[in-house]
Amino acid sequence: MAWLAATVRLKRRLGAEVVRTDAAACAAASYDSSKLPFRPEAVVVPRVRGDLAVVLRAANRDRVPVTVRGRGTSLTGSAAPVRGGWVVDLLGWNRVRIDAAVGLARVEAGARVAAIQAAADARGWFYPPDPSSREYCTIGGNVACNAGGMHGGKYGVTRDFVLALKGFLPTGEWVEWGADTKKFSAGFNLRDLWIGSEGMLGIVTDATLKLIPRPAARWTLLAAFVDEAAAFRAVGRLLAQRIQPAICEFLDRASVLCAERATGATVFRGQAGRPVVLIELAGHPGEVRDQRKAVLAWAASHALAHRAAASRAEAESLWAVRRKCSGAMFELGDAKLNEDVVVPARNYVRFARFLDRLRRESGLPIPTFGHLGDGNLHVNIMYHRANPAESRAAERAVKRLMAAVVELGGAISGEHGIGLAKSPFLRLQHSPAAVRAMLAVKHALDPQGILNPGKMFEVFRVWEHPRLTVRLPWDHK
Ligand SMILES: Cc1cc2nc3c(=O)[nH]c(=O)nc-3n(C[C@H](O)[C@H](O)[C@H](O)COP(=O)(O)OP(=O)(O)OC[C@H]3O[C@@H](n4cnc5c(N)ncnc54)[C@H](O)[C@@H]3O)c2cc1C
Repeated sequence: MAWLAATVRLKRRLGAEVVRTDAAACAAASYDSSKLPFRPEAVVVPRVRGDLAVVLRAANRDRVPVTVRGRGTSLTGSAAPVRGGWVVDLLGWNRVRIDAAVGLARVEAGARVAAIQAAADARGWFYPPDPSSREYCTIGGNVACNAGGMHGGKYGVTRDFVLALKGFLPTGEWVEWGADTKKFSAGFNLRDLWIGSEGMLGIVTDATLKLIPRPAARWTLLAAFVDEAAAFRAVGRLLAQRIQPAICEFLDRASVLCAERATGATVFRGQAGRPVVLIELAGHPGEVRDQRKAVLAWAASHALAHRAAASRAEAESLWAVRRKCSGAMFELGDAKLNEDVVVPARNYVRFARFLDRLRRESGLPIPTFGHLGDGNLHVNIMYHRANPAESRAAERAVKRLMAAVVELGGAISGEHGIGLAKSPFLRLQHSPAAVRAMLAVKHALDPQGILNPGKMFEVFRVWEHPRLTVRLPWDHK
């Protein structure tokens, strides 16, 4: 045990309730949704802010790695303690307070995103970032990964709603970035540096989030297309008309079939085996009415078939089916390279053709679904881990995919982040000078390199790692 003495000292200082070294606690904190297991020495469940300062100072003194954990739904291994050490579990810090007079949510890092949305909704406000994992994941994890979701195209991602953050630098010093105001131009913006820093530049304990008025009207349309390229082309044209759907989700043929089989639902009766686009308009009733006319005209000229959801309940059931897509893919293989690439709208059709080629040439199922409103697509390379030929084909396919999205002017990740899974590709996206600048920031804030080490900058080949076959609570929901 590399840090046994340091762990014993920390336990003596904070108590066995706070510093847990039992096998069950350590096993539960050893992986996230990437299922890459790395056992920590201890799990720290802090009672008060001061406990965190003690942990970070001790970690710096004894050079113990510290990995912060929300709910562990990260798909990239970013929450897995790859170097061991201490995992800080912030799930218990989950207070949510809505300031309905001004439209703000003051939340603690461990608050579930669905709980924040429900509390805002109850007071007539709306918090739009909505990862499919929202029932489980925490706002701390969302800030650290700059999480997005289906509402990204119109409203943006977590970054667009964070006004202020409080927490600890890796050295254990308390800092506050921003204020509960919509404007803040006082000094370097390190609040935005923390957002998307994957728990490597600081520990968030509290956040102030901006809310928007709950949309008074919603309208949902389902459109089926001849093939994937036709769907991509049509959505490109819709966006060019300056129509901003609140949600614009694409499901290719394989995703529709998997989601239907997993849920028992029928996505679009009479259009079996067709790719579909789900569109939701939201806002003031007058605005929704105007946009509805334009969207219906667009669907009439581009889609094979279309129909509006007859009721809110029907619309919600369509969104529920869409949220099950990720888990539903496992009927096509027991391993998945789950990529959340971004492609600019001008290259949608080229990307659809590239995916067709990738499927043909790799011989693997590559179901794809996601957010066409902002070009953030979930490309799922499915294979069987025990089959070496399939594993090699998956590795080649993911490399080609990453190179293609960068060539098309897009991004290797739109919302999941880099973690371990995308570390081999960081340098495809960024120049050597840009990576050096990121490392310089990391070194300046975390001189001992204790916070979430081994991630992002160090190449880790996820397809070579022998994974655990564990079931997580959200896998089959
Ligand atoms: C079924 C499923 C669907 C998903 N759908 C989406 C989606 O639609 N959109 C999307 O963006 N993501 C999605 N995800 C990924 C995941 O839910 C997000 O990345 C989420 O933000 C992780 O939150 P968490 O609380 O589980 O964080 P964790 O997984 O515990 O941690 C993630 C990262 O955040 C860091 N971190 C956590 N808390 C803090 C803190 N307080 N301070 C500093 N760093 C911290 C960790 O160190 C780690 O690097 C999905 C995951 C699953 C399993």
